[in-house]
Order: sequence, then structure tokens, then C-alpha cells
Amino acid sequence: MEMEKEHRSSHPRLVLVPLPFQGHINPMLQLGSILHSKGFSITVLHTAFNSPIPSNYPEFVFVSIPDNLSEQLISADDLLPFISLLNLNCGVLFQECLAKMVQKQEVENEPSIACIIYDECMYFCDAVAKYVKLPSIVLRTTSASTYLSRNAILQLKAEGVLTSQVSTSQDLVPGLHPLRLKDLPVSKIGTPEIFLQFITNIYKKRTSSAIIWNTNDVLEQPSLREIQKQCQVGIFPVGPLHEVAPASSSSLIKEDNSCITWLEKQKQNTVLYVSLGSLASVDKKELGEMAWGLANSKQPFLWVIRPGSVDDQEWKKLLTEGFVEAVGENGCIVKWAPQKEVLAHGAVGGFWTHCGWNSTLESISEGVPMICKPCFGDQRVNARHASQVWRIGIQLENMCERGEVERAIKRLMVDKEGKEMRQRAKNLKERIQLDIREGGSSYNSLNELIELIMSF
Ligand code: UDP
Repeated sequence: MEMEKEHRSSHPRLVLVPLPFQGHINPMLQLGSILHSKGFSITVLHTAFNSPIPSNYPEFVFVSIPDNLSEQLISADDLLPFISLLNLNCGVLFQECLAKMVQKQEVENEPSIACIIYDECMYFCDAVAKYVKLPSIVLRTTSASTYLSRNAILQLKAEGVLTSQVSTSQDLVPGLHPLRLKDLPVSKIGTPEIFLQFITNIYKKRTSSAIIWNTNDVLEQPSLREIQKQCQVGIFPVGPLHEVAPASSSSLIKEDNSCITWLEKQKQNTVLYVSLGSLASVDKKELGEMAWGLANSKQPFLWVIRPGSVDDQEWKKLLTEGFVEAVGENGCIVKWAPQKEVLAHGAVGGFWTHCGWNSTLESISEGVPMICKPCFGDQRVNARHASQVWRIGIQLENMCERGEVERAIKRLMVDKEGKEMRQRAKNLKERIQLDIREGGSSYNSLNELIELIMSF
């Protein structure tokens, strides 16, 4: 205990600035936990909107900044304008707050702030760090391949070939095999102009000293090599962060643990876990097709239907008409699950996912193969990698139709093909475990990152 204290007092403070969405808060707080376990003090500077829950991390200091953003449900369609507004609104307030913290540290002789670590989408922090004369480091919470595919979008735009046909084209993206043009994260969210502006903002040359990446060599070595060639600063692939970090929850929604009790009653590797993350939504028709595909497959399922994730208030009616009788005890529906615990449960044999990067990493880390149904943005890139590069996923390419859903579930959960995918996923899990242990590339990257921070 004493040694721990001594160790900590010799380490400076780090200020973390997450983007206030679940898929970004999680990796940032996990990174904070890892760095805290290495002796750093952690302050999380966050928006009042979607504020993290401080009691889940009693060892951190949380500072909430009034952001003038109303507490509203943000859907995928609103995401880019929202991020743009966030960057416009927050700069001055964050700057004032940080300047006060720096002043206080000088007057009260507190541990100095070594640097600011900010989510790539909170790009206003670059100017703030410069103003308070602190070094900064960027955290990228998406895959390395997503970075390259966003670069490819800018390239295609410059060549004048970023047309509306891109969203359906099967042609391969030059240099990014096996990505097709239709897999590029051009997105359903926002118009291409907003999207291009977004990429330009997050990729603009900035003064940050390094880039931390929630990925690793096991999953993405070729992409990481390519990125390091292009980047003028060091990149530190230290992921999967949730595997390195001590376990704790940063859920914004209350997790329903009753599903673990339900899982306890199921046989090994039989349950399909279904969740589309924190932002994606489906319409009533898709929900119906998903439901009947699940019911007809006769496979046990645990399904997360997040409040607000169906674009029709009346969706519950859809799941009563015959559905409850057809499913019986074979299905469990919750509003939000303790996902990492669910994926680690022996009863779970497959994950129907939207392929958000955290969900993808969490699934691979538990050796769980996937049904990939990407909805927007980087999810298509991740889905393509899961199905074609790591070969641990079946991608649903078209609009959800119950017959197709039922077949995909059988292929993954029953057929030899699915068993082979599960074996490959288990192999990846083992390789990731080796990679985060002493001597592994992720482990070494983390040590190099700490050395860099200590050198500031
Ligand atoms: N998650 C969870 N419970 C749920 C659904 C999701 O805890 O019922 C977590 C999941 O573990 C992941 C995050 O929410 O860490 C979602 O992030 P991801 O990048 O997969 O998708 P996004 O929500 O950003 O689209």
C-alpha cells in the first residue's frame, strides 16, 4: 500500500477528454484505468451531456464542463452535426477550466499535469493544449483499417470518383483489399459534405505528440505498419484496452444482470447474443424480420433492445403477436446487458453484432464468432474484416429478411462452418492474450507510451 503511494506521487497527472458516447467513453476510461494502475493520477474532463458515472471510478477526479447541449437522445443521423457543435461549444469552457487547473497546480504544489489525452473527435483540444502549453496525445477508438479507409475516401474525393454509386459498388478499394467501395465508411449519417468535413477535421495535421490506438498487431499489423509510415508522430497500438484494463463498468445505461441468471440455464455455446450497440437503430419492419428469424432458428438468444433503438413506439406489440408463444423460454430480451460478462459466458456461442469497434474487439477477445450486420460508418469496415480477413463472421449483406436471418444463425450456431469460425476466434483470443502479456507487442507499446509521457 505504502509502495503504491510512493510510486504514485512520483507520477504526474493526466487529463483525459472523452467524446461523450458509450463507444468512446469506454475505451477512454479503460485507458485511464490502465495508466492509473501504472501510477498516474487521472482527471477526466467531460461534458455535462452523457456524463460518465464518477462512482464507477472512485480513484479518478471527474470535472464536468457545462456544454450548453441539451440532454437529448442522439441518433446515428444526428451524430456528425452533434460532434461539430460539441467542438464549437466546448473550446472556451474547457480552456478556462484547464488554465485554472494549471494555475492551481503551480500555487498549491500539486503533481503537475503531464499531458492531455483526447478522443480524436474532440479535436478542439489541440488548440486548448497549445493555449495552456501542455503536450497532447490523441486516442483513436476505431480500427486502424478504418483510418486507412477514411484516407481512401479523401483520395477518391480528390480524384472525383466519390459518386453516389460508391454505396453499392462491389469494386475493391485500391490498396485496401478485401474492402469494397460499398464497405467504405461514407455513411448513412449526414450528407457526404458533412462527412468529408468530419474526416478533414479529425485528420488535420495537429501538434499532438503521439497517437494511441485501441487495436494491436495480432489483428491489424499490416494497417498499423502502413499508418506508421504515414504518421510523423509515434503510434501506440495498446489494445484491446478492455482486456488490459482492470474490470469495471462505464455503462451510461443501467445493466440488467438478470440475463446472466438466464444464461446460467443454457447449454455451452448455444446462445446467440444480439446487440446493435449504443447508437444504431432499426425500423419496425427490420425488427419484425429479426424477431422471426430468431424465433424460427429455434436457437436460444439473448437480445438487447435498447430504449429508443426502434423507430416506432409501438414495437412491443410486434413481439407479442405469436412471438412470445413461439419463443417461450428460449429467448431473453433486455434493455441493456453487461456485454463483456455476457460474451465471456460459456453459454454464448455467437454474437449478432452491428460491428462497432468495441463490440468487435470484445467478441474476438472472448473467442466468440459473429453475425455481422453493420449499420453505418466504420461498422462496415469492421464487418468486412471479421468475415474476410479473420474469417470469424458471417456478414448479412442485404436488408434483414427472416429466412436469411434463420439461415445465417444455423450456419453460425449449428453447421461445421460456424464451428470452424469459433475455433479461429478462439485462436485469435489466445494470440491476443499473449500479445498483452510481457513481451507481447501491445504490452511493449504500453511501456513505450508510458516512457514517452514520463519524458514530457
Ligand atoms: N454495451 C453494453 N451493453 C449493451 C450493449 C453494448 O455494455 O447492452 C457496450 C459494449 O460492451 C461496447 C459499447 O457498449 O463497449 C458499444 O460500443 P461499440 O463501439 O461496439 O458500438 P457503438 O455503441 O459505438 O455503436
